Amino acid sequence: MKALLEPNGSGALAAAKQQLREAAEHLHLDDGTLEFLSEARRELTVSVPLRRDDGTVEALRGYRVQHNLTRGPAKGGIRYSPIVSLDEVRALAMWMTWKCALLGVPYGGAKGGITFDPRSYSVGELERITRRYTSEIAHFIGPDRDIPAPDIGTDEQTMAWMMDTYSVNAGHTVLGVVTGKPLGFGGSRGRASATSRGVSHVCLAALESRGIAPTTSTAAVQGFGKVGRGAAQFLQDAGVRVMAVSDQYGAVADPNGLDIRALGAHVDATGTVVDFPDSEPIAADELLLMDVTLLVPAAVEGVLTERNASKVRARILVEGANGPTTPAADELLQSNDVLVVPDIFANAGGVLVSYFEWIQGNQAYWWSEQEVEDKLRERMLRAWDQLRERAETDGRPLRATATAMAVERVAEAHRLRGLYP
Ligand code: NAD
Repeated sequence: MKALLEPNGSGALAAAKQQLREAAEHLHLDDGTLEFLSEARRELTVSVPLRRDDGTVEALRGYRVQHNLTRGPAKGGIRYSPIVSLDEVRALAMWMTWKCALLGVPYGGAKGGITFDPRSYSVGELERITRRYTSEIAHFIGPDRDIPAPDIGTDEQTMAWMMDTYSVNAGHTVLGVVTGKPLGFGGSRGRASATSRGVSHVCLAALESRGIAPTTSTAAVQGFGKVGRGAAQFLQDAGVRVMAVSDQYGAVADPNGLDIRALGAHVDATGTVVDFPDSEPIAADELLLMDVTLLVPAAVEGVLTERNASKVRARILVEGANGPTTPAADELLQSNDVLVVPDIFANAGGVLVSYFEWIQGNQAYWWSEQEVEDKLRERMLRAWDQLRERAETDGRPLRATATAMAVERVAEAHRLRGLYP
């Protein structure tokens, strides 16, 4: 089945830098600090040689970028996708810095990835790729330096292999080197669903801010992976009618609301949402333009652009994915009074519970699911209140406000620490 993937790495980096420039201007930051924050602190490109199951050898390209380390160790996901590029990883690392600062999590931002399609490789090959990549970046990461987590194309098994490889080389078990590990070994309760749970808390808070009840709302969700699937499920559980969802192979819709649990079972059996029996197929692009209350892009970056943003009919857009909206699209949505809740806040539930997992791992003391979920909800909603209040005071959109708040905190930490030497 042909996937609908297009590289957009340099577009994402240009968008991230533009958002930073605007925040710096608003905050009257000096040029030196802007320059410092525009570039990654450290970047590593590695070759990942792989012996395939048929005996041939292939060399894949991998990356790890640490954008900022001022507020604590770097933190960010590992992406396995054929469109991973250094520029994409740089943009995602910068957004991680802002996300952690905005949520008050004591980390800087990082991201990593390998350019390949994991669906074309066996489990054994994936394990060898992951272990070799981990060895290549091992001196760069660590529980006090840089802590990877899952992202597109990676999961808790990937994290278990990473942790094991790092630990074998360190000579002892190092639980805190990655987050998003399996529950059976060093993972936190509530981590697997944390990003999507956070996205649904944000959706419900945004609906409330516009005076709309969940039970009178409809939603369309792009992407049915770790973020989109859970978000669709939690929204349905809250009474929202989820009219359409998509994945990289196509989109399905039902005006009466899709049965997300049944759709999940279909995806588990077939690998895609396509051909779900109780639905109509729709064009993937159509999903973004549906007449719904909530639009949740939860797949890849750069899907809302100047070409389609003026046709978006949703009243609220909650960014489950990182960087789904280009700056030009952002302006169009703004002028059409669409409430855009930005990625660096909307999908921060994952990094929050990653932080909880890191604390638990470092202390070898585990919290109950209820404790994790209560803390997640409380911190997301507190951050939402702070963000809205500041946006109102400054009279600026949520994204510009969120970026400015985050940049301000990182710049302040930088100022307090001073410049060495
Ligand atoms: P995933 O690999 O689990 O799922 C990605 C989903 O998007 C899949 O269903 C895939 O088929 C679909 N997809 C890919 N390209 C598409 C396209 N062009 N159109 C429609 N669907 C497409 O990845 P994930 O972890 O769910 O990540 C999704 C997004 O959320 C990414 O931007 C990621 O950076 C962001 N994010 C993830 C987490 C996390 O905890 N996993 C946290 C914060 C942000």
